[in-house]
Amino acid sequence: MSAPKLPIINELGYYDIRMESIGGMGANLAGQILAEACILRMGYNGVNFASYGSEKKGTPVKSFVRLCATDQEVTDNSPVEQPHLLAVFAEQLIGNVPITQGFGKGSVIAVNTVLTPEEVMDELKLPGCRIYCVDALKISMEEKVPLNTAMLGAVSKISGFIDPEAIKGVIKDKIGKRYPHLVDGNMKAFDRGYNDGHEADFSDSDKYPEVPFHRVQPDLGYENEPMGGIITNPGNTIVKNHAASRVGYIPFWHEDICIHCGDCDLTCPDHCMVFEKSTDDKGKEMVFMLGIDYNYCKGCLRCVDICPVDALTAEVESTVDVKKERADLRRVL
Ligand code: SF4
Ligand code: SF4
Repeated sequence: MSAPKLPIINELGYYDIRMESIGGMGANLAGQILAEACILRMGYNGVNFASYGSEKKGTPVKSFVRLCATDQEVTDNSPVEQPHLLAVFAEQLIGNVPITQGFGKGSVIAVNTVLTPEEVMDELKLPGCRIYCVDALKISMEEKVPLNTAMLGAVSKISGFIDPEAIKGVIKDKIGKRYPHLVDGNMKAFDRGYNDGHEADFSDSDKYPEVPFHRVQPDLGYENEPMGGIITNPGNTIVKNHAASRVGYIPFWHEDICIHCGDCDLTCPDHCMVFEKSTDDKGKEMVFMLGIDYNYCKGCLRCVDICPVDALTAEVESTVDVKKERADLRRVL
């Protein structure tokens, strides 16, 4: 089978795709499906692999697909550093993970977001490129399937050459064997990911210059690591921001309903609730809830389940101004 010519290739002859995601969103499976569609159904040569970090749900992950012409072998299995197509599964990664590293002028990007392509361009300071924005989270909630199939629709659309029917065929095969009742929802999510987004072409824009690629080097290596592998920089969760662990939902505190019972504080595994000692109207000393420190919240929503008066509700994160609503835990320490 001879595949159509790739729209752009690097000096080694590869078309490189990188998916930036959070463990649990299905980017790894999306990479497998995409590679299978391109290789087995469209006739390219290619490879798929992933980088999981600490391999757990909630941590940043990357999935890679590398394609080349039928008559070329894939001899490079290194991570995709300069993608021709970048897919961002989780908006929360923006600002927390260098997701656009190596993204050059002329590349294309698909983002799961409620923002417009213009807003994404400004938020990420992208060089001239084509941008496709789709609210994959909303689609996945409405179709009751993981958001990876909606994102595959977006990837197919912005690529301009990956056959949507090839991807749908693989999804049907893969999901249909084990979960036939989910095929319909995934097909709808894929089509909506393909059709319901907003695309804009900024290929000629020079608003933001291309950042020359440089490989980030780890702070410690074999040349400068202390003897015995001693860790000289003690970690402290107080300086961490766990926003990237959340998968689209966030607890929202309704101060007017809260009875300050403390149940959420006892339940939260990450001590995100901020309480402060004060006196009530009658002068009695007690602790009052001040809010949630979203820097440490991983979005498990256990606090929402436990609250006896519904003073905590689960909201879509992109609808909440997290910076404004955040209560700073350090204030009471
Ligand atoms: S569990 Fe609900 S009512 Fe109790 S302190 Fe938390 S938010 Fe307030
Ligand atoms: S969602 Fe989970 S981590 Fe976040 S505040 Fe609630 S219980 Fe804590």
